[in-house]
Amino acid sequence: MSDIEALDALYCAHTYNRAPVVFVKGEGNCLFDETGREYLDFGSGIGVMSLGYAYPEWLAAVTAQAQTLAHASNLFYTSPAPKLAKKLCELSAMKRVFFSNSGAEANECMIKVARKWALDRKGAGHHTIVTLQNSFHGRTIATVSATGQEVFHRDFAPFTEGFVYTPANELSALEEALRHDTCAAVMLEIVQGEGGVCALDERYLTGVSELCARYDVLLLIDEVQTGNGRTGTYFAYEQFGLKPDVVSTAKGLGAGLPIGATLMGEKTADTLTPGTHGSTFGGNPLACAGALVVANTVDDALLRSVTKKGERIRAALSGVPGVKGVSGLGLMVGVDLGEKKAPDVKAACLEKGLVVLTAKERIRLLPPLTVTEDEIDRAMTILTSVIAA
Ligand code: PLP
Repeated sequence: MSDIEALDALYCAHTYNRAPVVFVKGEGNCLFDETGREYLDFGSGIGVMSLGYAYPEWLAAVTAQAQTLAHASNLFYTSPAPKLAKKLCELSAMKRVFFSNSGAEANECMIKVARKWALDRKGAGHHTIVTLQNSFHGRTIATVSATGQEVFHRDFAPFTEGFVYTPANELSALEEALRHDTCAAVMLEIVQGEGGVCALDERYLTGVSELCARYDVLLLIDEVQTGNGRTGTYFAYEQFGLKPDVVSTAKGLGAGLPIGATLMGEKTADTLTPGTHGSTFGGNPLACAGALVVANTVDDALLRSVTKKGERIRAALSGVPGVKGVSGLGLMVGVDLGEKKAPDVKAACLEKGLVVLTAKERIRLLPPLTVTEDEIDRAMTILTSVIAA
């Protein structure tokens, strides 16, 4: 055990099952451990390092911002946050943005917006938010309550009231839930990431949107993992022609710094009023300066390359013995294994210098959007040899 592992074991909360490696540096799309060994990174810090490590423009923007003003609080105006909000609204056709520091917080805000919108519009008692079974929306008490997986509903009761879960891709079950006149919103991920990289059906998504309009409830889309170019469009909902009322995002927007953003559309733009929500760190200049580089860099050309690189990964995995199927969208890839167990494949890949993730029983690949074709080919050689071994 290295000194760092020993310190962690002694002083850090035991909430993570960490792999036995200490990363000390990142460069391009690779990580380096204490011995200087290089690893191809197909996890990108769980989807955060969208531009890889030490991306020159990001580094320059964050460094310059750190040298001038790292934080001033929301009691004052600072320049990166409004510029980032404008850019995100242009990219999404949403109207206003609230900044926070993580995906869970972005979802907390989304939930608060939906509840207040319903209170303002329909009066008390219309606070129920319908979410999907197998979803994941975060680790705070409200977002765990929104998460439709039993495994997260242990140990910390009582949970936040007012969430009901319906099976993904079953419109009749959703309509049944919406018939009860207590609903404020439907909340979903376009691709259930932590749930196993399960993309929702197009027909279902179109139907959800129609049901939300028919029952006068909001459509809330959690783009914490799918957003910022991950699936080949800036937000994944664009591929299905959806017009969400609130969108949350985080992870890849930060590219290494913590940020969450909740984007509000026409119906909800003025729901939050002074004093109804806030965050000390939210919108801080450092995180927003870096995120602005992400929003500007994830342009049409990069998005097209994400789709192409996703196809390259799928082609490399198709027909490989031991691969039962491949799921997901763009550079969000789930690999269904036959005999092999995902944690064993992940550990064997790490030994061979490739970082991959798991999601439920699947291997999950979330490389930086800047990953090269050569890096994909090298990674697929390692992954397919591990699976086939
Ligand atoms: N929502 C989705 C879809 C996620 O994938 C995650 C994290 O994996 C979260 C919310 C929570 O984000 P965070 O860990 O930044 O709070």
